[in-house]
Amino acid sequence: MQTIALIVAGGRGTRIARRQDGIPKQYITLERQTVLQHTFDVFNDHEEIDKICVVIHPDDVTLYQNSLNHNQGKLTSPVFGGATRQMSVYNGLQSLTDMGPYKVLIHDAARPFISAQLISNLIKALDAHKAVLPGLAVKDTLKRAKPTTNATFIIEETISRENLWQAQTPQCFHYDDILKAHEAASLSEHTFTDDASVAEWYGLETTLIPGEDTNFKITTSEDLTRAKNYLQQTRTDKNMQTLTLTGSGFDVHRFTDGDHVILCGVKIPYSQSLQGHSDADVGLHALTDAILGAIADGDIGTHFPPSDPQWKGVSSDVFLKDAVKKLHERGGSLQNIDVTLICEYPKIGPHREAMRASLSELLNLDIRRVSVKATTTEGLGFTGRKEGIAAMASVSISLPVDN
Ligand code: MG
Repeated sequence: MQTIALIVAGGRGTRIARRQDGIPKQYITLERQTVLQHTFDVFNDHEEIDKICVVIHPDDVTLYQNSLNHNQGKLTSPVFGGATRQMSVYNGLQSLTDMGPYKVLIHDAARPFISAQLISNLIKALDAHKAVLPGLAVKDTLKRAKPTTNATFIIEETISRENLWQAQTPQCFHYDDILKAHEAASLSEHTFTDDASVAEWYGLETTLIPGEDTNFKITTSEDLTRAKNYLQQTRTDKNMQTLTLTGSGFDVHRFTDGDHVILCGVKIPYSQSLQGHSDADVGLHALTDAILGAIADGDIGTHFPPSDPQWKGVSSDVFLKDAVKKLHERGGSLQNIDVTLICEYPKIGPHREAMRASLSELLNLDIRRVSVKATTTEGLGFTGRKEGIAAMASVSISLPVDN
């Protein structure tokens, strides 16, 4: 019994497209990610949404692939739309059959600022109603007018705004109902501009609940400006509620017989290996402790006791990824990392860039925020005697104030 979000991204958006190099509005980038990604994120982060399917135009496959982070568990394969919005939604609905959908939320990709609260309200309302959509009461006086030849319009009548609402999305239905309604609509002569109209025409009682001003659809270039302003304001608000914290880590492993070492995830041929319960990647261990330090959540030994045989020989990226997961679970993110390896041999310099690339990939962190340094201890101490390798790491993270 799944709840599925069907995001309709098949439109051509010609009203803006002419000014944006022909890119449909859902693929325009706002604040470092596409409109579609913004929209997707709201549904992906919502715990009551099980799967997300996006309906795209067949010409937009590359745009679509470049616009979304595809490593997201809820995202299913995209579906090609049809010649009209109505046909696109019908194609999308048909593609969901195998997922056993129960509730379906049909949403315009170009409404990226839908709130989680409104999604919750709609899903809840659908328990008591056949079909539910959000709407805004019309505030302005409405006129019906016909165009003249010189870009003005002649009023034909004034329409009472009483009981008039502007329909928004997501429009929410029980899957079987809306599939049947769309099937019947596809065989009729009618063309509908939203799914509530299809449901109404089919005879499903359709209920409206209050929508949100911010759940506007990006259609014109003025909407695009409004969207940019909204995102900048949201980012400012978020920044004001975020802390920057730091953490540090230190680790040592001794040399033993072998033919390679693993440092920061990179295998380096050497006349000895490092001894340890795991793969003894001293760099990743120091880094893992630095991240755990920044969120004050113990150390690597707390979470992966050396006494536990299941961690024997394990690749140390398991420890690192677990620390990052703990950070993400608190709503935090890594800002930068700085690792220092301390040894006489092996020489780190030739492998430094490979280590930076390895860490950047492991952490999904911009390589410009990833530093790997190396030093010796001038022949002094255990590293000077070539008995082992030490590593230090510092990280900074951002974390919501109340986490
Ligand atoms: Mg260690």
